[in-house]
Amino acid sequence: MNLVFCASEVFPFAKTGGLADVTGALPLALEKLGEEVAIVMPFYQCVQEGKFDFRRTEQGVNYVVIGKNIKVYFVANDAYFKRNWLYGTAHGDFGDNLDRFAYFCQKALEIIKETGLSPDIIHCHDWQTGLIPAYLKTKLATDRFYKHTKSLITIHNLGYQGLFEKGQFWMTGLEAKYFNQEEFEFYDRINLLKGGIAFSDIINTVSPTYSRQIQSKELGFGLEGVLRKRQQDVYGILNGLDYSIWDPAKDNLIAARYSLDRLIGKPEDKKDLQKTCKLPVNENIPILGVVSRLAEQKGIDLLTASLGRICKKNLQLVILGTGDLKYHKLLQQLAAKFHKNFALLLKFDEALAHKIYAGSDIFLMPSQYEPCGLGQLISLKYGSLPLVFKTGGLADTVNNSNGFVFEKYSSQAFLETIGQALKLFAQPDKWRGLQKNAMLADFSWETSAKGYIHLYEKAKKS
Ligand code: ADP
Repeated sequence: MNLVFCASEVFPFAKTGGLADVTGALPLALEKLGEEVAIVMPFYQCVQEGKFDFRRTEQGVNYVVIGKNIKVYFVANDAYFKRNWLYGTAHGDFGDNLDRFAYFCQKALEIIKETGLSPDIIHCHDWQTGLIPAYLKTKLATDRFYKHTKSLITIHNLGYQGLFEKGQFWMTGLEAKYFNQEEFEFYDRINLLKGGIAFSDIINTVSPTYSRQIQSKELGFGLEGVLRKRQQDVYGILNGLDYSIWDPAKDNLIAARYSLDRLIGKPEDKKDLQKTCKLPVNENIPILGVVSRLAEQKGIDLLTASLGRICKKNLQLVILGTGDLKYHKLLQQLAAKFHKNFALLLKFDEALAHKIYAGSDIFLMPSQYEPCGLGQLISLKYGSLPLVFKTGGLADTVNNSNGFVFEKYSSQAFLETIGQALKLFAQPDKWRGLQKNAMLADFSWETSAKGYIHLYEKAKKS
């Protein structure tokens, strides 16, 4: 099949979150399975400044080849994309995001045509590309080049929908009639993700449980109705993990490498983490690790509300994260109070994240909702048993045989589950059994890619 990915971020070119990991890794896995893939993304400042082997098409479009032969085409417009940030600054989103991404969507379709890519499927991601399925079904409905092209939109997090004032609808280049309650209108505003959902042939999200949850009032963020209407076309495919980066047997960022057969390195990593965090070095004290955006979604309220009682237990707690200022402040106060067994690192630090995954015994991920989640997949591979709230991708990947799950979103349930984990930690044989299940779990991209091929085939037939 001929597949074209359109996305606002792709690793290693530009990344603000998990979306870039997916759009960077999935095309490679698809190519390995024999599919032809191309990618189109904006030509941001960080891309222009990156050390990539740029080439140019006859039409003057910059591109880079990744994998064997995946061309990543860049939509250039310096006024829109040559900025320090992708979507906005710490003070808020850029005011011209509708203009920027409408331009990106239109230009992406032009480039696809110019370069003769002739896609069976255009795979769109999140609100930034929500206009593409709409263009295919409206303005381009009679375009012979796109006659057989179908679209699939992946929702990476329904919490971000691309909302704009209705007076700007003309910027989309669509006729005003498409601003209606079935398509782009959302409580009197423009909603690009809603339009993308309405016009795509297939819709999916990044875990089976989340695909059901987004159709409920509780986690549908107001789009549950539109999604339920399309429920026959809504799927969930778990994201994969890039084991070439996340594998304790090959990880150069940790003090000692280890595997299931040679777990001997893990205590070394624990010691190294304790030293790095200036905590007492003691192999027998369990370390609870957190690596997270400090955002409401990630359950930081629950964590901070329970933190005092957690730190009264015989354990050590390490939190690495950045995010909302209110959590920075709250955590700093708690860190001052519980400095004996709580280390707080308010920064984004890739190397330290690796050390925490390797050196911890338990990895806490009490997310309120979680479309897929990477942290728990990484911690499973590193034999640091994840302790999670039963939601979204966490519910699909963690269970009582490879970690710990709490089902009621309360401090009490969270603390009880921590208590159960600590009891098991004191029983090395049982702990090893869980660790074995965790480290053997396979969440590679190959499995996800096969799931996507299945969806592309469904879209082709639609
Ligand atoms: P998100 O919703 O933030 O994308 P995921 O669990 O899907 O959550 O992925 C988060 C990724 O970002 C993981 O790889 C995690 O290790 C990494 N990460 C989060 N915060 C930090 C940090 N402060 N320093 C280093 N890595 C981080």
